[in-house]
Amino acid sequence: GERAPTDLNALCQEYLRLAYQGLRAKDKSFNAELTTDFAADLPLVEVVGADLGRVLLNLFANAFYAVHQRQQLGVAGHRPTVEVRTRLAEQRVEIRVQDNGTGMSEAIQQKIFQPFFTTKPTGEGTGLGLSLSYDIITQGHGGTLSVESHEGRGTDFIISLPA
Ligand code: ADP
Ligand code: MG
Repeated sequence: GERAPTDLNALCQEYLRLAYQGLRAKDKSFNAELTTDFAADLPLVEVVGADLGRVLLNLFANAFYAVHQRQQLGVAGHRPTVEVRTRLAEQRVEIRVQDNGTGMSEAIQQKIFQPFFTTKPTGEGTGLGLSLSYDIITQGHGGTLSVESHEGRGTDFIISLPA
């Protein structure tokens, strides 16, 4: 695909809705709070829109899956929340996807970018999403993709791209 100047706030908004609808199609009773904090001064970024879209869709789908899974465990007082924030910091555009889902152990965090690593049942995950996302962000766009996660609390994925 070709790179083109892209409004990443709009792209996030579009794929966030798609991912949420995807999970609600599987479980009609699923409800999550979606919070967005989009920087108004975000510059357009030269990206391959279809590729960035795949990355975002996978990160959002993973986040909804994790909050849904934690909700299924019936933790008292847990309100499923997915938050997406964008910001411009030191010539870089950052997209942060935060969820208060199951979180991951250190051991799992070390494997998530490997192709075919999944903790999901057959048919629900291929384990290719994050390895593909890593390649798209690093090799495809000269950016970084990092994770911060705490088991039982939730997870942040951070995309950072040269502005
Ligand atoms: P898949 O979604 O098909 O399993 P991914 O490459 O997208 O493959 O993710 C790999 C694994 O990383 C998941 O199976 C899950 O164990 C873990 N993971 C990814 N995102 C999250 C998240 N937001 N919260 C908890 N675990 C996650
Ligand atoms: Mg996935």
